[in-house]
Amino acid sequence: MNDDQLLRYSRHILLPQIDINGQEKLSKSCVLIVGLGGLGCPAALYLAASGINKLIICDPDLVDLTNLQRQILHTTQSVGEAKTSSAERTLYQINPTIEIISLKKRITEDVLQEYISQVDAIIDASDNFITRNLISQMCYHHKKPLISGAVTGFNGQITVFDHRKQENPCYQCLFPELSADSDVNCAVMGVFAPLAGIIGSIQAAETIKVLLDIGTTLSGRLLLLDGLTMQLRTIKINKDPDCHVCGAVAV
Ligand SMILES: [Zn+2]
Repeated sequence: MNDDQLLRYSRHILLPQIDINGQEKLSKSCVLIVGLGGLGCPAALYLAASGINKLIICDPDLVDLTNLQRQILHTTQSVGEAKTSSAERTLYQINPTIEIISLKKRITEDVLQEYISQVDAIIDASDNFITRNLISQMCYHHKKPLISGAVTGFNGQITVFDHRKQENPCYQCLFPELSADSDVNCAVMGVFAPLAGIIGSIQAAETIKVLLDIGTTLSGRLLLLDGLTMQLRTIKINKDPDCHVCGAVAV
């Protein structure tokens, strides 16, 4: 690490749980962020600022005026521009020393296949259950930790599916029977802006903890935050032995 990096990351290096070794580990890590909306923006900001070596950011959409209330990587000038290029510009302004790979496309199995082997953790900041199902199954099969967050209205939730250990539950253990019918179109739902920032920031925090193996992550626990009362609840997620993805009968 050179002098500039020692200064840039000094407030992390001062933490004994991170130290120089942890910061160097972050500077060799790669994180895939799916979705550059209300959750992906703050998550990407903190991971870029924290010196994650490589961020792969994936979103097919253009910046819309209705996004700016909460999607804090994008500016008024970037309305109409691809979210990936808008995000990339902002992230490089914060930290020009990292590498960003922009994928202006919808996440598919082929896209995941192409990138998942080089990724150390995946942040699901997408807005639909079909994508969530796809990401979670690919993460399970490739033993990649998945940091999954969601926000609707004043309610947020977040958990970690740490597939590096077989005994941990997966997304389908928590949501076994999801179909496209259960999808709520986030594009027309109200979202309390700061709550997206809070949940996305927790996703960044959990990602760093997962990468460095520090503290206790939300693996096996679903954190629920009510933005109106600011009450936090944690629900235990049990591994389902009959889970069609990770259970004993899964193929
Ligand atoms: Zn499962």
